[in-house]
Amino acid sequence: MEFSSKLLENAVYEMSQLPGIGKRTALRLVLHLLKQPEERTNMLSDALMSLRSNINFCATCHNISDTILCEICSNTKRDESLVCVVEDIRDVMAIENTSQYNGLYHVLGGKISPMEGVGPQDLNINSLIRRVKEGQVSELIFALSSTMEGDTTNFYIYKQLEGLDVTTSTIARGISVGDELEYADEVTLGRSILNRVPFESSIKAN
Ligand SMILES: [Zn+2]
Repeated sequence: MEFSSKLLENAVYEMSQLPGIGKRTALRLVLHLLKQPEERTNMLSDALMSLRSNINFCATCHNISDTILCEICSNTKRDESLVCVVEDIRDVMAIENTSQYNGLYHVLGGKISPMEGVGPQDLNINSLIRRVKEGQVSELIFALSSTMEGDTTNFYIYKQLEGLDVTTSTIARGISVGDELEYADEVTLGRSILNRVPFESSIKAN
């Protein structure tokens, strides 16, 4: 792509670094911004800058939050004996959208993937085990995507919990094998969390 301006080229390049944005789309977005009043671009860049510098992660569940404890963890109406283990905050949003779940969450920040160099120490697993040891959690619900990495992560955590007084379950596989959780429709995902099964029987089934 030939540019008549270095400034334009730089803006298009930066925009095209975002996932799912090719050079052509990046160019269209940049030209769109140029047609808008200058305040629009300022508001966009201010929102991104302030997100970057002020964002917090909940001290308990690692969900993105504006406060030390996120709204879910600090809501006394939620059942703190139930903790749903998810890969990232998009999964929290997907499960919240089903309105079928009233427990808390634990956001791992990914899943174990030797291929991508992600080991257990790169994820929020120690803090999860600590939460269980503190004794308020009676059930952990594994809600990772049913891929090999998801299964490996479930199993790793399950082994870490040996000897601790906690029940483990996994969401019912209405979610197709290999599917990412965030793409499941709300009804399917809602039903999967209600019809969860003990984790032990899910290992035997595999
Ligand atoms: Zn939280």
